Amino acid sequence: MAACLASTMVGMKAVRYHGPGQPFRLEKVGRREPRAGEVLVRVVASGMCHTELHFKSGLLNLGVAPVTMGHEVVGRIEAVGEGVPPERADERVIVYYYLGCLECAYCRVGDEHLCPNLRAEYGFISDGGYAEYVTVPARNTVPLPATIPDVEAAPIGCSVTTAVHAAKLAEPKVGEWVVVYGVGGVGFGLVQLARAMGGRTIAVGRSPAKLDKALELGAEVAVSASEEAATERIREITGGAGADVVYECVGTEESMKEASGALGRRGRLVFIGYSPASFTVHPIQLVVFEQKVMGSVGATLNDLYEAVDLVERGVVRTVIDRTLPLEQFESGLKALERGELVGRAVLVPDR
Ligand SMILES: [Zn+2]
Ligand SMILES: [Zn+2]
Repeated sequence: MAACLASTMVGMKAVRYHGPGQPFRLEKVGRREPRAGEVLVRVVASGMCHTELHFKSGLLNLGVAPVTMGHEVVGRIEAVGEGVPPERADERVIVYYYLGCLECAYCRVGDEHLCPNLRAEYGFISDGGYAEYVTVPARNTVPLPATIPDVEAAPIGCSVTTAVHAAKLAEPKVGEWVVVYGVGGVGFGLVQLARAMGGRTIAVGRSPAKLDKALELGAEVAVSASEEAATERIREITGGAGADVVYECVGTEESMKEASGALGRRGRLVFIGYSPASFTVHPIQLVVFEQKVMGSVGATLNDLYEAVDLVERGVVRTVIDRTLPLEQFESGLKALERGELVGRAVLVPDR
């Protein structure tokens, strides 16, 4: 790291990943000034996502270390690089964390999240927002309306955008039964979107506090996976037909089994969450019921614009459990790991 630090470089605090199975470390690193087309964003709120736990455990290993974590980033533009309109300075923004090659067939239609030649992915393979500053291209910063406060805006960057993207993939129709299996950050977004799209939503979870929150956000029924067999209960609620759409936000052996068992005719099972467990299903189920199994990852830049608009219009509310100073990232990760958080923990760098 020292070799990269020019003598003029300003230092800042950042929480960094050092490889699979290694603890994250709060360190002093150099702040990168914006190059042409880029902006320097002073971070004011940074959401903590389950993905960080996957980095820590080694389940997700993208082979880049050290790297600053954090992909739900809200901040204020503090400096602009060459070619960026100077009036953007001081703008409140939220960061889009993918930077595709912008030339391939995926990027050409806006599917940057599928680009095989990513130039950057902030908080994954490029320095993200668990820091005092982040430097990103100006086009990766989406203006935030004044009506959305900083901390409430943070989860839009991943949990709401991921929900927006997944919600569309399943092509839900009005009146369909939509199961949201797992009521964390993405799950809360999906419950609200499914309802807004005309679906009848069933939230499945283990924590009574999270299930209550899901009901408050518009779920029609809450199913406690720790107290009842979710598959049977969903069959019962849907009059035996099963669910039309199941969003699988957990991905454990048990949840995958229950999610696929609850799927009805022409049902769509959308994977968003994962664990070390593998998914197995007998093809006869998919064949005779014409079911689809798909995955959903991240979101497009346009999904982020839509997510900001949905939150501004009150269609989707973000749920914040707590805010923590950057220094206390470890307590946030522990609470996330223990499943204690109802909504997001958001890091707020103090100065
Ligand atoms: Zn995330
Ligand atoms: Zn590309």
